[in-house]
Amino acid sequence: MSVDKPADRVNAAREETEARGETFYPGPSRIHLAAYPPKERWDDWTELDSQAWPRRKERHYSLVPTTCFNCESACGLLAYIDKATGEVQKFEGNPEHPGSRGRNCAKGPATLNQITDPDRILYPLKRTGKRGEGQWERVSWDDALDDIAGRIRKAIVEERRNEIMYHVGRPGEDGFTERILAAWGVDGHNSHTNICSSASREGYQLWMGLDRPSPDHANAKVILLISAHLESGHYFNPHAQRVIDGKANGAKLIVFDTRLSHTATHADHWIAPYPGSEAAILLSIVNYLLQNNLYNREFVRRWWNWEEYLSVEFPQLETTFVNFERVLRENYSEYSFEFAAKESGVEARVLEEIAMTVATAGTRFSSHNWRSASSGISGGWSVARCLFMLNALLGAIATEGGVFPNAWNKFVPKPIYTPPHPRMWNETTWPREYPLSMHEMSFLLPHLLRDGSARLDVYFTRVYNPVWTNPDGFSWIEMLTDQSLVGCYIALTPTWNETAYFADYVLPMGHGSERHDIHSYETHDSQWLGFRQPVLKAARQRDGEKIDDTRAVNPGEVWEENEFWLELTWRIDPDASLGIRRFAESKKNPGSRLSVDEYYEWIFDNSVPGLPEAAAAEKLSPLDFMRRYGAFEVRRKVGALYEQSVPAEELEDARQDRSGRVYTKAARPGSANVVPLPTMAPDPEGRRFAGVLVDGELKRGFPTPSGRLEFYSQTLSDWGWPEYAIPTYIKSHVHPDNLEDDQTVLISTFRLPVQIHTRSANAKWLDEIAHTNPLWIHPDHAAQLEIKTGDLVRVETEIGYYVVRAWVTEGIRPGIVACSHHMGRWKLREQGQRQLMATVKLDHQGTEWGIKREQGVAPYQSSDPDTLRIWWSDVGVHQNLTFPVHPDPISGMHCWHQVVRVKKAQPEDNCGDISVDTQKSRDVYKKWLEMTRPADKYSPDGTRRPYWMLRPLKPAPEFYRLPERSAR
Ligand code: SF4
Repeated sequence: MSVDKPADRVNAAREETEARGETFYPGPSRIHLAAYPPKERWDDWTELDSQAWPRRKERHYSLVPTTCFNCESACGLLAYIDKATGEVQKFEGNPEHPGSRGRNCAKGPATLNQITDPDRILYPLKRTGKRGEGQWERVSWDDALDDIAGRIRKAIVEERRNEIMYHVGRPGEDGFTERILAAWGVDGHNSHTNICSSASREGYQLWMGLDRPSPDHANAKVILLISAHLESGHYFNPHAQRVIDGKANGAKLIVFDTRLSHTATHADHWIAPYPGSEAAILLSIVNYLLQNNLYNREFVRRWWNWEEYLSVEFPQLETTFVNFERVLRENYSEYSFEFAAKESGVEARVLEEIAMTVATAGTRFSSHNWRSASSGISGGWSVARCLFMLNALLGAIATEGGVFPNAWNKFVPKPIYTPPHPRMWNETTWPREYPLSMHEMSFLLPHLLRDGSARLDVYFTRVYNPVWTNPDGFSWIEMLTDQSLVGCYIALTPTWNETAYFADYVLPMGHGSERHDIHSYETHDSQWLGFRQPVLKAARQRDGEKIDDTRAVNPGEVWEENEFWLELTWRIDPDASLGIRRFAESKKNPGSRLSVDEYYEWIFDNSVPGLPEAAAAEKLSPLDFMRRYGAFEVRRKVGALYEQSVPAEELEDARQDRSGRVYTKAARPGSANVVPLPTMAPDPEGRRFAGVLVDGELKRGFPTPSGRLEFYSQTLSDWGWPEYAIPTYIKSHVHPDNLEDDQTVLISTFRLPVQIHTRSANAKWLDEIAHTNPLWIHPDHAAQLEIKTGDLVRVETEIGYYVVRAWVTEGIRPGIVACSHHMGRWKLREQGQRQLMATVKLDHQGTEWGIKREQGVAPYQSSDPDTLRIWWSDVGVHQNLTFPVHPDPISGMHCWHQVVRVKKAQPEDNCGDISVDTQKSRDVYKKWLEMTRPADKYSPDGTRRPYWMLRPLKPAPEFYRLPERSAR
């Protein structure tokens, strides 16, 4: 008998069981166990209750999709909502999600811990004592909204818009809040990007005009990672599973990591270079490819801006490709394997083997550098730039198995309203000292406020905890406790955190299963749209209930941000006199506030190609389709968009410049299959960039000033950095030349795969797995210091020290130390997350600050019996407090690696001790400020910043002009 089909297998099992005289149980889902519940059965999915065993008690579930919010990967989740209790029983993967394909890391299912956290903030709170004293009263949402809206309205009316700032940690959405700020006419967006990924973004943007790579790992022949993508990194789970697919298909994996990461353990070639030497290694591979003619000549000839380079830098040479190749070889000939070996400490023989492996990839070379090296060192942007140079040499760009520009593998739909961008420039976030920074100079905020005469009247943080996450946290406490600098501070957060203690309002916001958002990320060669939604609302709507407000289904009075921002916008302009309210107004019912349902209904009806048809095929509206499946794939195999020809109808009144760029007056067609527009300033007659002539054909090209891949950056040259006009190795702030004999380098950025920055402090499953951050130290190094595992050591930085336990391991390069940044959470009193936050005493005298641990975590009574089973007490050390700011003068990225001295602890030292002098951090800030080349002096055209470079909420061109320096 054939048993190929599940039903056949069930029948075969039935016959066998009954032949033995036993009762056959057909299985809770009525079919043979499948990998995932089939979507047709999501309305009534049945499983046995594990706790009722051996009774076969069935539990019936509605399966409702949402999107994980616990890192930036945005994987699909399926909430199992018990039909009897109406509560979420568990979260598993959503098999309908094109990015994550049903898989999650440990943090996804731990969303359950977050929503049932017995210590979570359930109601809006207002400060009653002094900031930081911990005195709070419960207030109504109405009172909080009216107070905050009144302040914002007053600031707008009094033309103090630069005093309104929204500072985001984890965005988890595509543009909603930016549009709210635009509706207010405020250039007040601030982000965490400069403590995260700005350096890599700079390197990628310089090449291709877009700031992120989208590697096609699954189809690669060789994968080179300068990151830990199998356990963390950007779009980690979606990328990790595709790296493994690639390996299963025979790809070779090369990993650069000074520390033995989980990713390194899977590598065919793992090297642990001296921190900051990565670009030297990459350029030695470049040199190998060039000297041995192992690069894609035709691709380089067609798509690099070599003609521009030769004509500007070598005007005496005839502009021929052969001449360029000769110059190119000469330029990089100094990067021998021996040179790279000297810089990196990795044998030249090993580097040559890696280069030979890279050379075999052809156009199937995928690579990624995100945080890791580029975020650690000054000049870190050059690591991403030199890595992408390998792709550019091999022609492995937008190819199967290569790397795509992120925007081509991402889909951002048009929203219901697009407010004009603000008519202002905020120097507190975009100071003229950093004209080329990739994002706002967010981590300098305390220093920038002290430098200028600026203040903030209304300051929001959202899923952001700068006191704990940023470097120099004590300067943040000094800023937040000074009401002359910050008038009203509002923390939008699902959980208590170190910064929220210093707020005026703490407003509880939902976790991933309690809020709406849409997003799309470059997980592979496809464009998809994911939908996060409050799952209890969706389940009850599926049953026919009408629910207008997520507070009706969330615990306590936890809200969602979409509804919060729309309501706040409405209250800022209740009579519509400021022209703001219209951006929060219903189109269906003019005069009433836009609902979240209408907001998403409009987008799904009007802006997502193919979705209405797919929904109609299932007799669903587009909104119901997204509520039911949580994601939609708009397009796959997007391909090499830069090679597309520009059709004649787009060339109305076109003009061509000397470099072959073509400008047109025709409008750009709106299509997901069109390369995103280069945001260069229009030509003097108002034409937009249309494409670039390549071998006589007009191609869409890349959104760079030249329209090509920019080996040569005229921008860097024009803005005062001619020495970096082509990809170059830059000796970093932790280069051995910059260290004294008793100093070493601390790597402080690596993530623990199971922690979520701030929001996992009470994710009990995750806390049990990982709850401390010892200092990794090699046995040889430890022997020199007479240290063994568990001993206390002092780590001295430029501004203070911290005390931590040592972990002696061969998983780190000898002479380098490392400590994960995820740990060391603290609270000042019992209020807070009690499973991973130690209670500390915070002291200060003048600029000298200190923290002493009073109590580690301990079992406690709560609504969750597991809190009585807490067996760990150490929660690690908050090392970031002891780091000064290190803003890279070009990318603006905080350069995280620290030059430190590691010593045995003093007799009076205890684990978790911290000591810092903020005057010293101020001095370090000023030292790094001196390295900048400000727009005032170096701008080639009187603007603050090259207009073509990416910027959130880009103001109109006229606001790029530099005025006289005035008060910030
Ligand atoms: S990788 Fe993990 S934490 Fe990140 S979105 Fe996916 S499941 Fe969530």
